[in-house]
Amino acid sequence: MNRARLIVMNAALGPLDYRVPHGMSVEPGSVVVAPLGPRQMIGVVWEAERLPTQEVGDNRLRNLLHVYDLPPIAAPLRRLVEWTADYYLAPLAAVLRMALPSSGALEGARSITEYRATGLVPERLTPQRAQALERIGERQGLVSELAIIGGVSDGVIRGLCKAGAIEAVEVAIDDPFPEPDPDHDPPALEEAQADAADELREAVAAARFAPWLLDGVTGSGKTEVYFEAIAQAIRMGKQALVLLPEIALTEPFLKRFAARFGCDPVPWHSGQRQSQRRRAWRAIASGEARVVVGARSALFLPYCRLGLIVVDEAHEASFKQEDGVQYHARDVAVMRAKLEDIAIVLASATPAIESRHMAEIGTYRELRLPDRYGGARLPDMAALDMLQDPPPRGRWLAPKLVEALEENLEAGEQSLLFLNRRGYAPLTLCRRCGYRFQCPNCTAWMVEHRFTRRLACHHCGHMMPAPQACPECKEEDSLVACGPGVERIADEVRELFPDARTAIVTSDTIWSPAKAAEFVARMEAPHDEPDSIDIVIGTQLVTKGYHFPNLTLVGVVDADLGLAGGDLRAAERTFQQIQQVSGRAGRGDKHGRVLVQSHDPNARVIRALVGGDAEGFYAAETDARREAAMPPFGRLAAIIVSSESQAEANETARLIGRAAPTHDNMAVFGPAPAPLAMLRGRHRFRLLVHAARAVPVQDIIREWLGGLSWKASIRVSVDVDPYSFL
Ligand code: ADP
Ligand code: ZN
Repeated sequence: MNRARLIVMNAALGPLDYRVPHGMSVEPGSVVVAPLGPRQMIGVVWEAERLPTQEVGDNRLRNLLHVYDLPPIAAPLRRLVEWTADYYLAPLAAVLRMALPSSGALEGARSITEYRATGLVPERLTPQRAQALERIGERQGLVSELAIIGGVSDGVIRGLCKAGAIEAVEVAIDDPFPEPDPDHDPPALEEAQADAADELREAVAAARFAPWLLDGVTGSGKTEVYFEAIAQAIRMGKQALVLLPEIALTEPFLKRFAARFGCDPVPWHSGQRQSQRRRAWRAIASGEARVVVGARSALFLPYCRLGLIVVDEAHEASFKQEDGVQYHARDVAVMRAKLEDIAIVLASATPAIESRHMAEIGTYRELRLPDRYGGARLPDMAALDMLQDPPPRGRWLAPKLVEALEENLEAGEQSLLFLNRRGYAPLTLCRRCGYRFQCPNCTAWMVEHRFTRRLACHHCGHMMPAPQACPECKEEDSLVACGPGVERIADEVRELFPDARTAIVTSDTIWSPAKAAEFVARMEAPHDEPDSIDIVIGTQLVTKGYHFPNLTLVGVVDADLGLAGGDLRAAERTFQQIQQVSGRAGRGDKHGRVLVQSHDPNARVIRALVGGDAEGFYAAETDARREAAMPPFGRLAAIIVSSESQAEANETARLIGRAAPTHDNMAVFGPAPAPLAMLRGRHRFRLLVHAARAVPVQDIIREWLGGLSWKASIRVSVDVDPYSFL
């Protein structure tokens, strides 16, 4: 080929044609460098016939500059990139970018220089230097990476280097990864587990597209079962990918994997250093990385011999990416499995209604593990009526829950209090004049974080020091904290049980895999060790994945919280969350119990939880969705228009609304101010498209918006299959 059509890494540009100079050879999928004006761009060669554009005469073509010495992006991944861009209405370049590493990682030295602290304290210890050294701790990375971790400029890091407090280390970055051994330490499976494992092993061996729903109660051994499928992939010389919803779960996963297979899998997540990512990327592309575990972004990597995908905790909403390309990793994973013609396992104790429906209509095959491993029973669950038996004023834990905590402490067993709200209090107001602290950039209250003595916006990250006086009426000591967050519950626990050892688990305290490992080690420490934990107070971060045999009591502080928003999935999400957090109780030999605090214990979802009627609950929810033609029985797409100017955003939203096409079985609602009417300083309006399944919503929206234009200061984004209704 002497011409090549490229997708270049700039979402604003369409396909571009180049000449392939004499002596260079490229094929679809080759990663190349191309000139663009005075600059150079990375691009990927594509099948020209799949990227229609205006033909440019041969004589006007510029030469490609370079081809990277990498395996080309394979056809199934190219098709996945196209499908994702098409389905989620995203630019091809934006999707393709997720398959490529950063440009520095494409080639370069086989070893690089990284930096780490020496432990030496510099003579001149400015506050900045002290901060940097404290935050960097044991970590290692490029100067720029350490600067980000330390919250200082590159110059400060270089200064520390000159002062001898930080030293350079040569890191070989292309060391091979160890190979997992499928026979290292396989468990003896119970009958139901063995049956499920057989099915999955066969599915992997068949090397055909096969989607499976692995639906097993918490503690039933889903991980052990899908490990057997991974073992099969390894035996066949194939690669396996395991997607997890949170990087905090990676660490416990690595440990379990190493126990089963004799070495760590290859991790992939945003917390990694550039050098680690480069090494992983190359090993994934060469096939040397046999098992990869990662967050959503691992899905688009160029595996050269993929044989299996596992999506663990597949019901988790965090698989939906909310910025950039707004894709749902669970759904794209199924599409990748289809295009690669391989097996995929969606594992969950509380599968999403969408996934259950696919199993019901026979598109997915379902495997059930109805019992916990080793005869452990599911915990007993009871509701506590907060109106009948309320806590004393200014407290949040009902007497019965406090009693249960006390019993557990005496028995030397661990307890977990779940409240899905970070910080101390969700709202601060002035007792005298009623002033409420609101974020200047968002339609949101400022959340008090007593631990850091600040108010913070959970949407944009805006912070202010905790105020002493009301900014409005200037009254001192008039500010009151309204409602509880986990920090406030932790205070209450410390007042009630001054000797209990507590830990708060939120994204504020567990912000790295290392922190997660630290927490797990403390939870697993024997009860008589000073470092062990009696009572955990945590957000949804503790609801999943963990296995702590000595944890026997779970208290749900506010079961009504998730229902407040009232969006499409509110009841389902509440059910899943409480079911998952309950699943942490009584996983060992000791029986567990769960107490659910609610102001409305007769609500359907609470009744279903306490009565253990998951089937009934899901059936009713599914019927309600079917009635209303909501997903998976109908389609939704949100169009969000935002601008720093409210008038501008409003005007454009109305322009889009007026141009809405009419179609059978499709309705357009709005525009209306989005529930989060202001976010990060931008005013937001929303239109919602609701259509029957058969309506080609994406084509309609593409044509509709394609015919309109707006100023560059206005952003219009389309969220297909939205999960967030803010
Ligand atoms: P799930 O993912 O379904 O909640 P896990 O896979 O975490 O369940 O299993 C729960 C606990 O039981 C884990 O500690 C796991 O190692 C253990 N377990 C499950 N099945 C077996 C087995 N067949 N042999 C030994 N241990 C098992
Ligand atoms: Zn904000």
